[in-house]
Amino acid sequence: MNIKNSLQAFEEAKKVIPGGVDSPVRAFKSVGGTPLFIQRGEGAYLYDIDDNRYIDFVQSWGPLIFGHCDKDIEESVIKAAKKGLSFGAPTTVESELANEIVKMFDSIEKIRFVSSGTEAVMSAIRLARGYTKRDDIIKFEGCYHGHSDSLLVQAGSGAVTFGTPSSPGVPADFTKHTLLAKYNDIKSVEKCFENSKDIACVIIEPIAGNMGLVPADEKFLEELRSLCDKNGALLVFDEVMSGFRASLKGAQGLVETKPDIVTFGKVIGGGMPVGAFGARAEIMDKLSPDGPVYQAGTLSGNPVAMSAGLTSLVKLKNNPEIYLELEKKAEKLMSAFKNEAEKNQIPLQTNVRGSMFGFFFNDTPVKNFDDALKSDTKMFASFHSKMLENGVYFACSQFETGFISTAMSDEIIDEVIEKAKDVFGELK
Ligand SMILES: *Cc1c(COP(=O)(O)O)cnc(C)c1O
Repeated sequence: MNIKNSLQAFEEAKKVIPGGVDSPVRAFKSVGGTPLFIQRGEGAYLYDIDDNRYIDFVQSWGPLIFGHCDKDIEESVIKAAKKGLSFGAPTTVESELANEIVKMFDSIEKIRFVSSGTEAVMSAIRLARGYTKRDDIIKFEGCYHGHSDSLLVQAGSGAVTFGTPSSPGVPADFTKHTLLAKYNDIKSVEKCFENSKDIACVIIEPIAGNMGLVPADEKFLEELRSLCDKNGALLVFDEVMSGFRASLKGAQGLVETKPDIVTFGKVIGGGMPVGAFGARAEIMDKLSPDGPVYQAGTLSGNPVAMSAGLTSLVKLKNNPEIYLELEKKAEKLMSAFKNEAEKNQIPLQTNVRGSMFGFFFNDTPVKNFDDALKSDTKMFASFHSKMLENGVYFACSQFETGFISTAMSDEIIDEVIEKAKDVFGELK
């Protein structure tokens, strides 16, 4: 495979952009390769600047559920852009999108739009703290909620204590209100509640997608709900990735447990930068200008981005069968991977939730971050680079989720399975 132009573009980029990328995971560091520079996308495919074509399972890390250059989204974006890119004043498309979401979710009566998932979660946490008048929060090891200070934490010495910053530049004082618990382990959450009487909220990816794909057990979510209720804390579902992905209603379409606050991103913007957080009115009314909790954004509710989001969501709502079709394809892909791995005595764990899929080179089922870390990342790196050479673009880390788009036909899935057969054979 010739990637001469990408190699050169990467060298040029590194001179003026740290690491040559604007978001670190794009740098291919954990698989030891170099990033491909993308020229364009079309349906299920990505084209790099050397004119190589790839079947794209990354889809901009989740947003592109209709694949690249969906005609309806493209049209609505162009139409909106022609009227002006931004006004910093309300537009009716914001209420239209808000209405669609409020109608869809029992847990949401009002919603506010922001420009990224990070911003959505950061604002949701502030709102939870403002509403409960408490400072501490509980998050789970291996869940990612964007890069705001109080969420960039790792376990300190001994689990279930207050976290320590996972990045220089985050003062320890900023993370001392963040308690870390173990995913799918209710005892660890109980301990957090014993250690602090000041818990404002528990935040969780109800379908974790940032340690690889690790769904929460239904019973665990129920128990979380009742622990929060018992202790007067709010339950925040971070559905930035799973929203409109795992099902139309994200995790909430698959489990009974209802959160107090929900955050969205990725699919909600149809490929444009959009995030959002919503809750029942009583909570949302605490936000400025109605309430005292401050939150703002110059480009929030941007009309071009809102149009892309609205078109995507309406299309998803009007074609709910999409999710079954996507899940069928994801299941087919994962069961084929599992088969091929077995044939070659390679341990592989697989998961599917709607259009989301994940596989770990691991001999035991993955229930939490510790389990995920036991995966064979070297074998993943080898799998990744061999698939890439075969024109299949998977996320460049063992700890990411794969995505099926509506642009992926059965033929494309079959083609990937054929390629994977050879690659699994070479991995032994
Ligand atoms: C991607 C992601 C975020 C951060 O969103 P950005 O748009 O990258 O800021 C937050 N939470 C979850 C669950 C995510 O997957």
